[in-house]
Amino acid sequence: MNDESRSRRPRDVAASRRTLLAALGAGVGAGALGLPGPAAAAGPGTWTNPTRGTLTSGYKTPSRPGHLGWDVAAAQGTPVYAAAAGTVRDIRTGSYPGDQTSGPLPGRTGNSVHLNHVDSFFTYYGHLHRVLVSPGQQISCGQLIGLMGTTGNSTGPHLHFEIHRPRLTSTDPRVFLANRGISLGSTAPLGSTGWPSVSGGTGWVQRTIQYLLRGRGVSVVVDGYFGPGTASAVRTFQSGRGLHADGLVGPITWTALILPVQQGSSGDGVRAAQTALNARGAALLVDGAFGAVSAAAARSFQSANGLLADGQVGPLTWSVLV
Ligand SMILES: [Zn+2]
Repeated sequence: MNDESRSRRPRDVAASRRTLLAALGAGVGAGALGLPGPAAAAGPGTWTNPTRGTLTSGYKTPSRPGHLGWDVAAAQGTPVYAAAAGTVRDIRTGSYPGDQTSGPLPGRTGNSVHLNHVDSFFTYYGHLHRVLVSPGQQISCGQLIGLMGTTGNSTGPHLHFEIHRPRLTSTDPRVFLANRGISLGSTAPLGSTGWPSVSGGTGWVQRTIQYLLRGRGVSVVVDGYFGPGTASAVRTFQSGRGLHADGLVGPITWTALILPVQQGSSGDGVRAAQTALNARGAALLVDGAFGAVSAAAARSFQSANGLLADGQVGPLTWSVLV
């Protein structure tokens, strides 16, 4: 999908915080909101997928280094949701579908919504067909804010989605969400994350979990059977990480459990990745040594799944692997 990234002018961060506090009403102190310290930056569970569709253009690609977001394409009218709770900072309208010359943002991102979140994070949703919120409105995580469209400089219906960290530094929204257990644009049901929830059973996912537990220093038998021993090992891992120790490997536990693997890596994290790659069609020796053959298998898997084929098994690749 064709569009242009926006260049944003610096904003008055303090004013934006005051606006948020004012919108939330008197009696809600900065402490309760976690403002203004960075410690309360949005964490697991507070972000969600903004829409469903096909990823068509990435963040700062070599051919589009100024593209500060991801494009997710689906039918016109596909719901677009707030990726986190916040306040509507502003709305831009005036470009007509397919019209790249009229309106306040000619040739740009058309009808768009900008949401402020706690700790000066903000998100941006471009090319909308309809905007369903108003400036200043409080928005909950996952709330419907608009419908996907092709306003502004766009060749077909898609959402242009950006996430900005405090002090206006854009970040790769796909990686940002993957680190929170969310697969951008995933066709998985909304509210699900792209990570499987595992608390029993037998198979390669269970074996992968066991290798990862061992790679994290938790003693467990690797037999592919998720029984009481594995559940106990999961609880041990969760307790050590300050997570709810329920023995269930869900999105938050997966995100903490996975080990990044690349060429030259060794150990049980590699055995976990080799096991998962084999389940996805590779034929690797599960030897715990991530050499050129394993890296090639990782690149092949990444290419087949629309991921950057760098041969590194990081959070995003892990989330698609399992
Ligand atoms: Zn875009």
